[in-house]
Amino acid sequence: MMEEAFDVVVVGSCMTDLVSQTPRLPKAGETIHGHKFFIGFGGKGANQCIQAARLGVKTTMICKVGKDFFGDAYIQNFKDNNVSTDFVWQTSDAATGAASITVNDAGENAIVIVAGANMLLGGDELQKALPAIRKAKVLVCQLEINPQTSLQALQMARDNKVKTVFNPAPAIPDLDYNFYKVSDVFCCNESEAELLTGFSVNNVEGAHRASQELLSRGCGAVILTLGPQGCVVLKAQEKTSTHVPSTAVAAVDTTGAGDSFIGALAFYLAVHPTMTLEEMAGRANQVASVSVQTSGTQTSFPFRQDLPAKLF
Ligand code: ATP
Repeated sequence: MMEEAFDVVVVGSCMTDLVSQTPRLPKAGETIHGHKFFIGFGGKGANQCIQAARLGVKTTMICKVGKDFFGDAYIQNFKDNNVSTDFVWQTSDAATGAASITVNDAGENAIVIVAGANMLLGGDELQKALPAIRKAKVLVCQLEINPQTSLQALQMARDNKVKTVFNPAPAIPDLDYNFYKVSDVFCCNESEAELLTGFSVNNVEGAHRASQELLSRGCGAVILTLGPQGCVVLKAQEKTSTHVPSTAVAAVDTTGAGDSFIGALAFYLAVHPTMTLEEMAGRANQVASVSVQTSGTQTSFPFRQDLPAKLF
């Protein structure tokens, strides 16, 4: 049987966000009443995959959810977004990853994340998905699953000449240098760059320095995102990075902007492999800048038809 080919393969996390809005954060042992509750689909891996799919490429997600209500709902969410679920496994050994989020009226939050089934994705599943990894144009990984699984997936992609994008989020100190060596594009935000390099990254100058340090660790290119300031791009063999500014917009909710950016970047790498990385980053800035203008995470990610034709 002919195996299906996917443009973008994401190996990563699925999380169900359980969000309560309250007048204030509860103290230990206290029960308080909130005024609003909603459930959202999240997880960096799934977010990035869904953004790439909404821009119009064939995507598949390699991940693990629980054999529970939230796992079933997540699988349906992938189907609704045209993401293949061929490699979405369900386990009875852990619950679907969940983030219990309490947000008070001042916008402060308290969050408990239980990664659950995400941590049970491992080498066996990657082997089963190898035919899809082999045929992919781009493979994307983050750090919300077992880091060894991410590293193994990136290495498998490398071995098969598939372009790799690594988003070291959430960042871990003393990241294994092999992650840099298997990353064609190493894409992180300011706080991740600070934690990884020890440099302060609060402006474009700081981002230039940090990206040079990250590049020196062995990746093919670095993209460091800077919120409303866009990003800087530094490629191997280049001495200085390029600042790629974002469009000024009225931001409403920036949650998930980084995931929208990376999903868009994966899309451009798959569809326009000869485009310059600076051009891709500029277009990904524009996609992510749309996502910050509405609230929510995946709910704010634009579809192809919401965006100007010149972005495609
Ligand atoms: P988050 O953790 O909120 O998901 P992040 O910290 O990983 O995001 P950022 O660097 O804040 O990532 O944002 C990613 C991209 O989103 C930026 O490079 C930019 O293109 C876009 N972006 C973020 N905030 C804004 C904003 N206020 N105005 C315009 N574009 C924005």
